[in-house]
Amino acid sequence: MPSDLMISRGAALRPMERIAAEMGIGDHLLEPYGHSVAKISLDAPDELSDRPRARYVVVTAVTPTPLGEGKTTTTVGLGQAFGVLGQCGVVAIRQPSMGPTFGIKGGAAGGGYAQVTPMESLNLHLTGDMHAVTAAHNLLAAMVDNHIHQGNHLGIDPHSITWNRVMDVNDRNLRQIVTGLGGRADGTPRQTGFDITAASEVMAVLALSTSLRDLRERLGRIVVGYTKDGEPVTAEMLRAAGAMAVILREALKPNLMQTVEQTPVLVHCGPFGNIAHGNSSIIADRIGIRAADYLITEAGFGADMGAERFFNIKCRASGLVPDAAVIVTTVRALKAHSGQYRIVAGRPLPDELLEENVDDVLAGAVNLRQQIANVRAHGVTPVVAVNSFPTDHPSEQQAILDVAAEEGARAAVSTHFSGGGKGAVQLAEAVADACEEPSSFHHLYDTELPLTEKIETIARRIYGADGIDVAPAAQRQIDTYERAGFGNLPICIAKTHLSLSADPSLKGAPRGWRLPVREVRASAGAGFVYPICGDMRTMPALSSSPAAETIDIDQDGEIIGLR
Ligand code: ADP
Ligand code: MG
Repeated sequence: MPSDLMISRGAALRPMERIAAEMGIGDHLLEPYGHSVAKISLDAPDELSDRPRARYVVVTAVTPTPLGEGKTTTTVGLGQAFGVLGQCGVVAIRQPSMGPTFGIKGGAAGGGYAQVTPMESLNLHLTGDMHAVTAAHNLLAAMVDNHIHQGNHLGIDPHSITWNRVMDVNDRNLRQIVTGLGGRADGTPRQTGFDITAASEVMAVLALSTSLRDLRERLGRIVVGYTKDGEPVTAEMLRAAGAMAVILREALKPNLMQTVEQTPVLVHCGPFGNIAHGNSSIIADRIGIRAADYLITEAGFGADMGAERFFNIKCRASGLVPDAAVIVTTVRALKAHSGQYRIVAGRPLPDELLEENVDDVLAGAVNLRQQIANVRAHGVTPVVAVNSFPTDHPSEQQAILDVAAEEGARAAVSTHFSGGGKGAVQLAEAVADACEEPSSFHHLYDTELPLTEKIETIARRIYGADGIDVAPAAQRQIDTYERAGFGNLPICIAKTHLSLSADPSLKGAPRGWRLPVREVRASAGAGFVYPICGDMRTMPALSSSPAAETIDIDQDGEIIGLR
């Protein structure tokens, strides 16, 4: 098969006006950025509001291996398949962070014949939204330090400041730094650090905002630290939120692109999947929901992570009701969940894993069964997608279909990667059927419950834990947040995505364990509280051979080496 970059370059692109027209979006709502990307005006949700509502489908997965199991390719392939069936499918995905593009993971445009194009634009800069988030975030950081330098009238306790700086480069040397060195005129020295832009609360705010006004208000609610008396200090109190909203005004508009089969794609926002909710924007979905027969959106990591946040954080904020959830499953992931194999990112799969072994697939299917239950726990109809790899054995794929049938879930093998939209037609038909079932969508917990009870509900019902162990420091933080009025926020548990538990080495569906809550933080602007369960890195690092080393410009000025 040709490389992803070659397939992307070979695709015939339609003018953006035509792509928008297919969604019923007129030229007056389109703001072109070059020939193959356009922003959509914030007037679109209101202008389209009397149009019929699309079926709303979220794409999630079993607990993935470090390689990823193909949610993005399946999301794109499914959108393309609805086109093959003569329906309008619109895809909504996150914008990838540039850090990992030059690091290890490669791009996030999908792959093979199920890709968003041009993948160079998607993976690099796009329309500059990431840079706007970086600038807005760092403006607030500068205003915090300046406030302290100018006399600290709000009485901010410098040791309580939680607002780091951000940038979109993987750089371990910036994780812990001291700023303000030099003389008196150079600021007050303090220890702080950098996170990657995708981990900025501003990114989560942008993704969860329902309008420009809502964006402005959420920015104002961001807490940067506390006074000596323990009172939260907000961006509003620092008078920074207005300027931040101005920087983000263009970034709030979703970006329109297309797939290699000319299916419309909304690309917008890229919040982290562990310390944030890991879903693309509400604004993009509010446009897509009135501009398609089927709106297909991807939620990061497995169904215990991205989909749980999609249901309980994103849908709660947007008010949109999902009709079905696709659970992407691979033979390799289920084999890995048998506990017999170790898969390491950047290394070839172990040879034994590629041998036909239905028993291991069936043993690992406990993870799929639990993720099916996790979708059903929200009253949503699951559909199992077997993302087909050339190394799969038919008996192994059949075993997954059998497990899905035992669980009473629709299922289909999908070959979108090698076959494009045609390869996902059976999956699209299963999804269309699932969407016709009456939805009994509901949130997992009531936000009015105490924070500890909400955390425990997710741990028990979704992760299969026996309970939670809250460290004393975490309990004090919970008490502080409840006093500060953040007790009624939904929960975003930051844990590993590589296990249903908090221990990445536990595969399958671990039982007999408790969720350790080490620390609890609040993203009051984005609107969630996030307990930290395990080591969470918010600034990735480069490996011994970063992808950046092989990316270059050729004689004709074309980019080479992008994955
Ligand atoms: P996710 O969104 O779940 O992280 P992606 O769709 O980005 O997963 O896929 C992860 C990686 O696996 C990508 O490099 C992608 O190109 C590759 N991939 C996904 N599906 C297939 C497939 N069916 N065959 C071969 N490679 C695939
Ligand atoms: Mg993805």
